[in-house]
Amino acid sequence: MTTFVTPDHRHPDARPASHSAGFIEKVPLEHYVAEAKPSLVGMSRAALADALTAIGVAANQHKMRIQQLWHWLYVRGATRFDEMTNVSKELRSLLHENFTLARPEVAAEQISVDGTRKWLLRLPGEHNGEHPHEVECVYIPETDRGTLCLSSQVGCTLTCSFCHTGTQRLVRNLTAGEIVGQVMLARDRLDDWPGALRTQSGLLRADDKPRLISNIVLMGMGEPLYNFDAVRDALLIASDNEGIAISKRRITLSTSGVVPNIARAGTEIGCMLAVSLHATRDELRNELVPLNRKYSIAELLAACRTYPGLSNARCITFEYVMLKGVNDSLADAIALIALLKGIPAKINLIPFNPWPGTKYECSDWDQIEKFSELIFNAGYASPVRTPRGRDILAACGQLKSATEKLSARERLALRAMAMTD
Ligand code: SAH
Ligand code: SF4
Repeated sequence: MTTFVTPDHRHPDARPASHSAGFIEKVPLEHYVAEAKPSLVGMSRAALADALTAIGVAANQHKMRIQQLWHWLYVRGATRFDEMTNVSKELRSLLHENFTLARPEVAAEQISVDGTRKWLLRLPGEHNGEHPHEVECVYIPETDRGTLCLSSQVGCTLTCSFCHTGTQRLVRNLTAGEIVGQVMLARDRLDDWPGALRTQSGLLRADDKPRLISNIVLMGMGEPLYNFDAVRDALLIASDNEGIAISKRRITLSTSGVVPNIARAGTEIGCMLAVSLHATRDELRNELVPLNRKYSIAELLAACRTYPGLSNARCITFEYVMLKGVNDSLADAIALIALLKGIPAKINLIPFNPWPGTKYECSDWDQIEKFSELIFNAGYASPVRTPRGRDILAACGQLKSATEKLSARERLALRAMAMTD
């Protein structure tokens, strides 16, 4: 079975990367070609019903079978069909002949002393022998939570000038299975699936100990709102109460400002929203986040004001990367406070993480502190944890080579970015 899934990120403004100067978006390189033997990971209940029909399971059995599969997949984290003991042997072998339970392949794993883990994932490409499609997934443990940072695309069509991913071509969108599969492989690696308990009647049920992965942020590679359907389907599975069950309040989607899809994130997903603002004037934001030329700050903030479900308890996180001499003056801080007036908001200051060839530098730590103090005095939660100060550097949104380790500075910055609730 070879299905071509057309990426949904072609826009009238899309231009080849070779002409990227001044352009908002680049065109994608490749398409996703579905595996001959598809994984059940990432299929909605309706898609599972179709899969069962395809292998000849009678419709009157679908409800029960889907419930069983859902439990084995998303509560118990089964990696083999023969673990599914309450499914008949016959059906198990039929499933095995036609489907897999595959998650993305881990090409490299790094475990830091503080528990931060980074996985480099290798995804299937379009042609044999081509450069593999690689994205990252990072787990950041803290005392009160464990946050998993997911990627949504291989590369990005957008061209934010301070972002390393912005210099790369978009290779393709991730599928829903590849997105929720990141949560599953992280649970596999962290041994974070609920253990099995036997009830009095002898049935197996899952224990309800707190999980290591309590929060999800869509802050890895890619623009999630340009891969809307797959991101939505994946997050609905990750938040499903009969499965992985991570509360939508603990799932934060970060966008560079794809205005038409912001309300959809609220209504169709119901997750928390983070907006990469980074500047308070259109002129500067046009340079930092060129998508601003399509959707201005005023349009972006109007979409934020009407974000479905917005309240003081469910506020929007505004991300602001600290770029030395570019957007870090105290006048900028005052303008930021004025701009966000009336929007239930948190401000997350992200120290810039430099990459080879960038023209930007991270703001001086003293400046970040002064900026942060103004924001704090205006009533916003302190956005950067100061004690480790200078050591903080961000790493999300940037693909590293398999051998390159997350430095202590990057790990601490990841924490700064993960501070979304
Ligand atoms: N595409 C989405 C989500 C991925 S990037 C977005 O842009 O929001 C996640 C966050 O990392 C964004 O706020 C992005 O602006 C920020 N970021 C990207 N490159 C960075 C860098 N080099 N240093 C610090 N933050 C960066
Ligand atoms: Fe893409 Fe986000 Fe990087 Fe901009 S900051 S290029 S939207 S990943």
